[in-house]
Amino acid sequence: KTKRKAIIAGNWKMNKTPSEAKALLEAVVPAVKDADCEVIACVPFVDLSVALETTKGSNVKIGAENCHWAESGAFTGEISALMLKEMGVEYVVLGHSERRQYFGETDETVNKRTKAALAAGLKPIVCVGELLWERECDITEEVIARQIKLDLFNVTAEELKNIVIAYEPVWAIGTGKTATADQAEEVCTFIRATIAKLYSQADADAVTIQYGGSMNDGNADELLSKTNVDGGLIGGASLVAEKFAAIVKAAS
Ligand code: PEP
Repeated sequence: KTKRKAIIAGNWKMNKTPSEAKALLEAVVPAVKDADCEVIACVPFVDLSVALETTKGSNVKIGAENCHWAESGAFTGEISALMLKEMGVEYVVLGHSERRQYFGETDETVNKRTKAALAAGLKPIVCVGELLWERECDITEEVIARQIKLDLFNVTAEELKNIVIAYEPVWAIGTGKTATADQAEEVCTFIRATIAKLYSQADADAVTIQYGGSMNDGNADELLSKTNVDGGLIGGASLVAEKFAAIVKAAS
């Protein structure tokens, strides 16, 4: 196993009101306090304030689930990277498959958001992953290479240090279907090789690549034992403090 420090990030999606967010984080904070990995909770915009307050002084970092690419302007309903940064938010999930599927995100907009997040001093968690039929057509690597190239277009080697990649096969998200550890390792290894071609091997070796897709307290150990799986992006299981804490423990 290489020396990359694991990162376990929860992606709450559209779950938890502010009072529910407070209660969940009050349970998560003590449960992960001895973690030997980075722990992040990515929460809905309206929960950010209470999440930052509740995790203050703890080892739990806070992320948002998206941001716009403009600094400000006529974009009703949107949130800028600068707004998040000023609040004290550290991470932001970008290009999640649900954003791509339901809200028209493209690699071009993911790239614009990534550049804006980096410029504001946020750390993007950039999500990539193939659809089921793309895997069945045996074009997983083409799809992933394309996403990595386009999403990271014009991202410098220096900026790459602040980026986390999440490999999330779309067929495994919220479906209860997990990629096998070997499938996850195969694609995470391919992602690292793609980054090595675009940057350098040393740059690629330093990038944290998470697996996401129905990771839970039962399968985290095996997935995280793989050389190129450096952590997890956790949906459903991040909403239950004990399950999330068990995954954090598996990564520590
Ligand atoms: C996700 O949405 O990033 C995710 C991996 O969800 P789940 O763990 O619920 O499959």
